[in-house]
Amino acid sequence: MTTAKALTIAGSDSGGGAGIQADLKTFQELKVFGMSAITAVTAQNTLGVDGVYPMSLEAIEQQIECIAVDLKPDALKTGMLFNSEIIELVADKIKQYKWENLVVDPVMIAKGGANLLQKEAIDAMKKKLLPIATVLTPNIPEAEELTGLNIQNMEDRKEAAKRLSALGVSNVIIKGGHGKEKESVDLLYDGTCFSSLLAKRIPTKNTHGTGCTFSAAITAALANGYSVKDAFQLGKDFIHQAIKMDLHIGSGHGPTNHWA
Ligand code: PLP
Repeated sequence: MTTAKALTIAGSDSGGGAGIQADLKTFQELKVFGMSAITAVTAQNTLGVDGVYPMSLEAIEQQIECIAVDLKPDALKTGMLFNSEIIELVADKIKQYKWENLVVDPVMIAKGGANLLQKEAIDAMKKKLLPIATVLTPNIPEAEELTGLNIQNMEDRKEAAKRLSALGVSNVIIKGGHGKEKESVDLLYDGTCFSSLLAKRIPTKNTHGTGCTFSAAITAALANGYSVKDAFQLGKDFIHQAIKMDLHIGSGHGPTNHWA
């Protein structure tokens, strides 16, 4: 039996709900062997982010190289990349090793307001990383930041998806969690067609790490050989269940449930 392998290149969340920790838990739950290259260490819990410590470029490069010489990932994702130098390094390494099935979660700001990506790095993300992304998973504020659009309705979301596709992204998924609709609508654009998945909104404050978990579930599905459309469905089902069965851990915004 061969086991699919997935890599996450992202930040560490000491509280265990988001970042590398959420990604590895999701990979494990979806029966994929998980590997990591840590870009930054955050000191945080369910109440918020108290500290952000980016790793040196040398340390990030060495982690990726060690994986490359021994453990080729079947799919990979990026999460918190923090600055333009890290983005450029990570994009160069992915190109150098010709790794496929790249999911880019354009992590920018934590729910509590902490900055996980420097503003000046948005340009590097658009120029270096998006052109090699198989799937990009922005929420509405991230899609606005990347496109300069003010997204009010579904038509605006479609226009944002088209603009992101024009930057070279193969598949854009604009998540609907921040939308105003009664149901949460996630929109997929594959460069030709739109499709959407709807889910009932779940009243809970425990949504810490939902974006990380959703993009990790899509990465795991791609590693297991699913099409992007099927990976989208699997990711949506996984995160819906994870939010529905939320854990009551910590006194702030708790994590979703990776055993869901
Ligand atoms: N911390 C890290 C290291 C992350 O990668 C992410 C991902 O978005 C977050 C925090 C954000 O967590 P939240 O879902 O609470 O915004």
